[in-house]
Amino acid sequence: MIERIEIRYLESKLQKPFGWSQRWTDLRSIIVIKIITNDGVIGWGETYGSPESIDDIKSIASMVIGSNSKDFEVIWNKLYRSLYQSHFFAKSGIYAISAIDTALLDIAGKKANTSISEILGGRIHESIPVYATGLYYVDNYSLKPLLQEATGYLEQGFTGMKMKVGALSLKEDAKRIKEVRKIIGDDINLMFDANESYDPITAIKFSKMVSDYDLTWFEEPCASRDDVANKLVQENSPIPISGGESLSTRWEFSERLAKRVFDIVQPDVCNVGGISEMRKIGLMAQSFGIKFNPHFWGTGISFSASLHALSAQPINQIGQNNIPYQNESVLEFDQTPHPIRENLTERFQINRESRVKIPDKPGLGIEVDEDALDNFTIGEAHIVDRASNKQLRF
Ligand SMILES: [Mg+2]
Repeated sequence: MIERIEIRYLESKLQKPFGWSQRWTDLRSIIVIKIITNDGVIGWGETYGSPESIDDIKSIASMVIGSNSKDFEVIWNKLYRSLYQSHFFAKSGIYAISAIDTALLDIAGKKANTSISEILGGRIHESIPVYATGLYYVDNYSLKPLLQEATGYLEQGFTGMKMKVGALSLKEDAKRIKEVRKIIGDDINLMFDANESYDPITAIKFSKMVSDYDLTWFEEPCASRDDVANKLVQENSPIPISGGESLSTRWEFSERLAKRVFDIVQPDVCNVGGISEMRKIGLMAQSFGIKFNPHFWGTGISFSASLHALSAQPINQIGQNNIPYQNESVLEFDQTPHPIRENLTERFQINRESRVKIPDKPGLGIEVDEDALDNFTIGEAHIVDRASNKQLRF
């Protein structure tokens, strides 16, 4: 039985800011939730949001106190129904559901003394191919640190990496792509991400400008929910289009999959609705022949959650071999500075094939360092230990 839920907002300053199309930041943050059962089993989940999201998450968490922790699908459905009337399926509503779902699967695994991927029905994959995300704007947009960073990923053994575009003129960003491609050679998958900063005509123009550099995908060319704009780019870009990192639940993906707004969808376990919802969207994408390459921007908690969700993702089109980027899903592996990610759990390592092994230990298979958790927590942990079934007030 779920007895207590602790919710913390964590934040850490960076020594050096980095930028993307929208802005610069010198801050990383995350919301971590800890669910404790009456027999003392602990489950971890995480999500995005600000200190202001905490009140919403608390009121949603109060609805699961007293529930049986094994009923993760029942609880997902109960919470979604409670939010549905006001269509509150985006942001803090789904943030709470996402973190709770992941934590409940962590508990289910720990109680059964097996990993989450075994709870989900066994592993199709024992390890998941990953690519490095980094190559943001740093040092007043200078090229030299960008190329050094790309060389670093190459030396670590990554077979793919993703860079940012959209803050500079098309000519300047095209030059950055050209230089990165030149330094990493022809055998590495290179992706680029505009974070919603182009109108469709500009995006199509840019895609054509860089089409000679063998780019694997063009991420979020236009506003994430502007289907007309993204579809126009998808139809006219020589490079496949990806998106979906900020979309939530199967209902935000279904029509976009059916209309093929994106060639690749990238849900994030922290805001799509947790591991169980991510699994469903993965299977929906497969049925439409659309690639499924999830987004990751959190700590080891959501990285492990994404690995377990992907362990059960079939290859996209059946063939005798699994080939990353071609028929096998790849997972984003954020490499940008994140003191919370670097200290909260053990660090995940890539093997020589640019893959990360799915943890074997029970549940998520990670240890959360509670001293680090306390150190990064802003204010106090918010405790929810009394049940409430009141209609939510959103
Ligand atoms: Mg992105």
